[in-house]
This record gives sequence, structure tokens and C-alpha cells, in this order.
Amino acid sequence: MTDYSNELIDEEAEAEAFESAASRLTVDLGAIVENWKTMQRLSGSARAAAVLKADAYGLGVEDVGEALYEAGARDFFVALPEEGANLRTFAPEARIFVLSGMWPGSEQFFFDYDLVPVLISREQIALFSAVTSEHGEHPCALQVDTGFNRLGLSVEEALELAEDTARPATFSPVLILSHLACGDDANAEMNREQLERFRLIADAFEGIETSLSASAGIFLGSDYHFDLTRPGIALYGGDSQPGTAKQLKTVATAEARILQIRNAKAGETVSYGATWKLERDSRLAIVATGYADGYMRAQSGSGTPVRDAVKIEGHGYIAGHRVPIAGRITMDLTIFDVTDVPESKIRPGDFIELIGPHIPVDEAAEAAGTIGYEILTSLGLRYQRRYIQPS
Ligand SMILES: *Cc1c(COP(=O)(O)O)cnc(C)c1O
Repeated sequence: MTDYSNELIDEEAEAEAFESAASRLTVDLGAIVENWKTMQRLSGSARAAAVLKADAYGLGVEDVGEALYEAGARDFFVALPEEGANLRTFAPEARIFVLSGMWPGSEQFFFDYDLVPVLISREQIALFSAVTSEHGEHPCALQVDTGFNRLGLSVEEALELAEDTARPATFSPVLILSHLACGDDANAEMNREQLERFRLIADAFEGIETSLSASAGIFLGSDYHFDLTRPGIALYGGDSQPGTAKQLKTVATAEARILQIRNAKAGETVSYGATWKLERDSRLAIVATGYADGYMRAQSGSGTPVRDAVKIEGHGYIAGHRVPIAGRITMDLTIFDVTDVPESKIRPGDFIELIGPHIPVDEAAEAAGTIGYEILTSLGLRYQRRYIQPS
């Protein structure tokens, strides 16, 4: 008979830790799976992969990888070989592409964990050819730079390689990919320019699968889909093109506990630098999160250069109210002006939503002068995490 008692104790301990935490993060794995299916549907006849680099955008590569694998995802992208090795445990039969490719000293990861290097330069191709002539055949992919000027062979180098008559024997990638610089702007001329260059490449490597689009490119339409799409941020409920997250489920909810509620008089100031001056008698909630938790100082209520430059203000959400951040965010603590929340509705110990269903990650990002990607990948290690399993 299986003994589940330890598992139950673990679950109870976790639930207790979640209830008693200073700050906590809920990751809805079912929402991630639904978002992946949405991106699969929007990819038309192309297959949708899943991009899990940077610990699945900060949300946990083990849990996210397992949920997507269970849901049927079989193509994954990570940035680094270590990330691929980590993911392998949870995605045993998947194809795992490593976007930074293979460099001297990293080769063993690719063989030990059956990872596919996305080769990005002539040097990497030469290294790969040398190690495979020793180890035997191994799949690889090729990145071509069609205008981003980041990773990849130039278009000219790629065409030369395609025309090399000795190529198929020595070098036969399973996927050719490129990356759009302006996919977030549906009207950018550069999208069409990159598309044209990528079509040249796809024709030159006829018979090999191709991939051009991350989340944003999927929204550009079927011309951009090729064989495989590479959604990342969309899986986690964030905008790639403005407004597109509305079609997606909210994935991450970060909350932090109110430690103290204090009354302050009109004319008094709040936090470092005394940059927030109270215009009325106020109630302030002192909350257990700060910039060390990725609650970015830039989105402070006042007293940062970004606050002067960006119109939208940072808010939390509690008891049906959006409450503004008051003054500068500090390392471990943030102060919210809760004067407009009826006194009976909140008390110390309550949790305030920092990002989630009422404060979209892209709203917090805008207030901080950044993008949702950076908000998610900056979430610190102090949040007590809870994963909601797909139903
Ligand atoms: C990060 C990345 C993606 C995923 O991008 P999103 O905008 O998060 O969808 C896809 N392809 C490459 C090469 C990337 O670096």
C-alpha cells in the first residue's frame, strides 16, 4: 500500500507556510496551459513551442515545464545549457533547444541531457562539428540574424553555408530560426524586411523546419508563423503587443502582508527623502515587500526619476480598492495610501495585491518604466510560492 501521509504533511506544511508568509506568489499552472493552447491556436498550422528561459520567466521552470509537458508541449526553448539540464527531468521526451548555443566547456551538457544547441556563429558550428565527429551524431539548430544584431549567422554567412555542397553530410540542423526586433509593433516596416530575409534563408535550407516568431510575431499573422512558433511572455499572461494579454489568463499573483496601519496628519511626509507630502489626514498601510522582492523602486509613488517621466502611478489592490504607493519604495517595505478604504475593511495582517487579476503585470511595469518581462523575472526569492495545478 502506498503511504501518502508524508505527502499530506508536506501539503499541510506548505499551506501553513503560505498562510503565514510575509509575501506570497501564486502561480496558476492551469492558466499557463490555457495560454499555451491559445498561442497554439493563434499559430494556425504551425506548432507552438514554449520558452522557459530564466526559470520560466521567474515563475519556476520545474513546475511550469512539467505542466506544459503534461499538456502536450514537446518543443522547449531555454537560454542556457544548465537551464536545459534542469528542465530535462520534467520533460523527458521533449526537444529542448538552448538559445545561446554551445561553447567550449559546455559540450557535455548537450550530450548528457540530450539538448539541442542553437548554433549562433561560425565558431560554434566548427566546435559542434568537431565534438560530433568524436561523439557521433547529435541534433542542432541554427540561428540566423535577419536584422536584430544579437545572436546568429549573418544572412550572407547562412546563404553561403546553405550552398556549401559538402553541407548535408557535415551539418544538418533540425531547425533554422531567427528573431524579430519589432514584433511588438504590428506596423513596423522592419517586420516585413526581416520576414523577406528569413524567407530567403528558409528557401535556401529547403526541407528544414523554420521558426521566426516569439509571442508578438504570432499576433502578426500567418505569414510569420512558419513551422514552429516560440511564445514566452504570452504563456505567463503578459503583453507582447500592447493589449494582447487581454486574450490571455492571469498567471502570477503576488501579494504582501500589511504589517502596520498608521494615521498621519496633513502636511506630514512619507518615506525616504520625504518626497510624498500628505495633502489630507491619511491612513497608511506599511506592507512587507520592497525592491529586494522585485517591487521596483522605480514605481515608487514619488521621489524617483521614473515617477517624473512616466504618467501612470503604481498601485496595489485591497478590499475592492486600488490604492496608490506613497513615497519611495524601500528594500523590504512599501507604503500604500489606504485613506479611501473604509477602516472596517482592512487591518494589519491582511494581504494586498501587488500584481495579479486587478493589477496586471504590464500595469506595474508601465508604472516602473519597464516591461512585464522584467517585473516577472525580478520577483525575488522571498515570496512563499504556491502552484495551482491544472484541473
Ligand atoms: C525570449 C525569446 C523568445 C520568447 O519571446 P517572448 O517575447 O517572451 O514570447 C523567443 N525567441 C527568442 C530567440 C527569444 O530570445
